[in-house]
Parts: sequence; C-alpha cells; structure tokens
Amino acid sequence: SLGRAAVGRWIGTFVERVLAEEPNLTDLDRRAGDGDFGTNMVAALDHVDVDKIRGTYSPATIFESLSDAYLSHAGGTSGALFGIWFRQFYRAATDSGGGLDLEAVTTAARQGLDTIRELGGAQRGDKTMIDAIEPAVVALESAVDTGGGLLDGLADAADAATRGAEATAGITASRGRASYVGEASRGIVDPGALVSSWFFVEAREAAR
Ligand code: ADP
Ligand code: MG
Ligand code: MG
Repeated sequence: SLGRAAVGRWIGTFVERVLAEEPNLTDLDRRAGDGDFGTNMVAALDHVDVDKIRGTYSPATIFESLSDAYLSHAGGTSGALFGIWFRQFYRAATDSGGGLDLEAVTTAARQGLDTIRELGGAQRGDKTMIDAIEPAVVALESAVDTGGGLLDGLADAADAATRGAEATAGITASRGRASYVGEASRGIVDPGALVSSWFFVEAREAAR
C-alpha cells in the first residue's frame, strides 16, 4: 500500500507541479473560461506546507491540509470541487489509520467522483474534471474486480485520466464557465481535467 512516505511524494509532487504550471493553467482557462483557474489553484496551494507534506504529516493530515486549503482559500468552482475530492481521501486515510491500499484509493475516488457530480451536475463529455476522473475510477474499479495490484491499478488509472483529459480538447464545453465561450472552447484542454490527470499520474509515480 501507499505509506506515509509514498503519499508525501505523491501529493508533494502534485502540489509542486500545479504551482509550476500556473501560467499554463491560467492560459487554458483564459481561452476557454474566465482566466482565473491558475490563480485559484495558487490561492489554495499557497496555504499548504509542502515540506511537511513530504516529511512529517500523516497521510490523513496531508489530504486534510489539501482539502482545507481548497475549501477555504480557492475561489471558483474548482476550489469547492477539489476540496471535496481531497476530503474523501482524508476520510479513507483516517479509516485506514495510515496509508492507502488499492481498495481505499478506489473507494475514495469513487466517492469523490459521485460527490463532484452531485454538487456540479456535470456528466462525462461536458468538458470538465469529470472527463479525467471518471475513466480513472472505472480503471481502478476494474483493477479491484480482477484482483490487480496497486501499481497496475494506479498505472491504468493514470493512463485513463491522461487520455480523458487530452480528449477534452475535442469537446465544446456545455457546463461551467467554458460553456460561455461556446465553440471557442474547442481545441483547448480543460484545466480541471488536466490537474485531475496529474493527481493520478503522480500517484503512479509515487507507488513505483
Ligand atoms: P470558475 O469556473 O468558477 O472560474 P475555476 O476556473 O477555478 O472555476 O475552475 C474551472 C474548472 O472547474 C474547469 O476546468 C472544470 O474542470 C471544472 N468545472 C467547472 N464546472 C464544473 C462542474 N459543473 N462539474 C465539474 N467540474 C467543473
Ligand atoms: Mg475560471
Ligand atoms: Mg471564476
């Protein structure tokens, strides 16, 4: 399973990657949205302590700190949705009393997806983070069903999320602010889907 050090690498690298990509993320949201996505990410992630995430926090505290940061400090739709997403991983790590195995990751991701859908009302194909998250959850559940290992399940989820995020470029947005620009959103990858795919990619890297 993913223990303290692995979860620290996973989320530490995820945070650093999102912060480093801020200009690109903002540019994507500028071309297919209102241009504040990167700013919203930084507003949240400036409130997490990457050194403690990498070095001392328990897995539960790592996910709690991300959830709190997104819920309290990010504006925009994505702040609320990522906040509840990380909340599910906080719960899973609390329930396990430590690290996360494949079943725990899968349950948290399923609950996160369902809650995001309930709150935001988007479905797959609407050009949102759902387009990365849902295929990843399907891949994780299939790994659990077939008795696959953690690394294989995370690798399948990372591939599925990456493909899902890339495919958002071919979609005209019908939900969220990207829908306001209509056809102009075509050709632009959805930044929320991109960040969601990094979450799964960095999980796979940390599990190696
Ligand atoms: P806002 O749209 O309020 O400016 P952000 O720019 O912070 O919020 O976040 C935009 C991202 O949020 C999009 O890239 C998309 O992935 C995601 N998003 C927007 N609306 C929804 C929704 N209804 N359901 C799921 N995700 C959504
Ligand atoms: Mg925006
Ligand atoms: Mg906005």
